[in-house]
Amino acid sequence: MTGPLSPLALLDTDSLIGEEDRAMRDTVRSFVDDRLRPEIAGWYERGDVPVRDLALEFGKLGLLGMHLEGYGCAGTSATAYGLACLELEAGDSGLRSIVSVQGSLAMYAIWKHGSDEQKEQWLPRMATGEAIGCFGLTEPDFGSNPGGMRTRAVRDGGDWVLTGNKMWITNGSVADVAVVWARTDDAVRGFVVPTDTPGFSATEIKHKMSLRASVTAELALDQVRLPDAAMLPGAQGLSGPLSCLTEARFGIVFGALGAARDCLETTIAYAREREIFDRQLASYQLTQAKLADMSVELGKGMLLALHLGRLKDEGRLPAPAISVGKLNNTREAIAIARECRTILGAAGITLEYPLMRHANNLESVLTYEGTSEVHQLVIGQALTGESAFR
Ligand SMILES: Cc1cc2nc3c(=O)[nH]c(=O)nc-3n(C[C@H](O)[C@H](O)[C@H](O)COP(=O)(O)OP(=O)(O)OC[C@H]3O[C@@H](n4cnc5c(N)ncnc54)[C@H](O)[C@@H]3O)c2cc1C
Repeated sequence: MTGPLSPLALLDTDSLIGEEDRAMRDTVRSFVDDRLRPEIAGWYERGDVPVRDLALEFGKLGLLGMHLEGYGCAGTSATAYGLACLELEAGDSGLRSIVSVQGSLAMYAIWKHGSDEQKEQWLPRMATGEAIGCFGLTEPDFGSNPGGMRTRAVRDGGDWVLTGNKMWITNGSVADVAVVWARTDDAVRGFVVPTDTPGFSATEIKHKMSLRASVTAELALDQVRLPDAAMLPGAQGLSGPLSCLTEARFGIVFGALGAARDCLETTIAYAREREIFDRQLASYQLTQAKLADMSVELGKGMLLALHLGRLKDEGRLPAPAISVGKLNNTREAIAIARECRTILGAAGITLEYPLMRHANNLESVLTYEGTSEVHQLVIGQALTGESAFR
């Protein structure tokens, strides 16, 4: 008998990954194993993660805005970025969220839609992790339907004055700069808001049962006065923020698989050690059926992610395809985390093992960047030509 084989080795998906991307992936994996894994359960339990220190370390590894060109960003392939997300999320979804929000949401918004001055001012410091960004789109009453937002930006002489509230904002209370989306007389616009601007405040949301190793905050904008130059000139209408969400969703397609892989690897190791009715738990057919089914889903998810990565690297990734990836891979990842937990029995509910932590985190991953239902509606619309959103 040979083996045991790691679940992703079943389909040899590594053979589909270029040498450079694999090397980068291995660097991130070692960093997660050596630096983050020993700390993560404690950060999660305390609901307290050193975002500022971690951002500097992520910056040193070139992970912040890594798939963007220029301004100190690494300019890697999209697939490499996806693989980095996968390895980070094998550590914890909260750690991957720090990198996603910084690179795909806050930095990408400025990189794609910003003026030269905005890019020069923020991107190099965000790439090193010296400056932390957040992305304020969701409001207390408008999550899946951001078009209903109430935050307003009103002209006053040459300035803009912003008023409103943003909810569930990752990194919100540790950020140096917030990209805030607001309604103006003509369209939704994005604004680059230094968080020390008078009238801006952020309050951390406590008592979360999910993504506890990630800072989530409510932003309040009370007559925040900004110069004209604070507006992102390249974004007009909801397509501006949605273009950023598309970037972040791509990272999640890969990321969720990292959590699932970590659950499966942990579970296989446990089942090989654990004796039940005088036999190894791993030797029972029921256990093997579960492990086989989960590994099949993990492998299929990986093939899907790598396919989307290749399409993105070739510049021809259709938007509904990202919904297919986000819907499938988050849905399967949470199913895997929960099934793995059953194999560990009572031990599975503790923080000694990562299963409940990943499963709880994946509840947020299922919801943010478009809920599963929203992605079903996107796919449904692509298939039928009919919008069922309202
Ligand atoms: C930990 C965490 C971090 C986050 N970070 C950020 C961030 O950094 N920046 C940011 O802007 N936002 C962030 N969010 C917010 C996130 O994007 C929203 O939670 C998400 O868009 C869903 O909005 P909602 O929670 O208001 O749910 P709702 O929109 O109220 O949805 C409730 C339910 O209704 C369903 N639903 C919605 N529309 C339809 C429909 N047409 N038909 C049928 N069912 C429907 C949904 O799928 C869901 O099941 C974060 C959320 C979490 C949990």
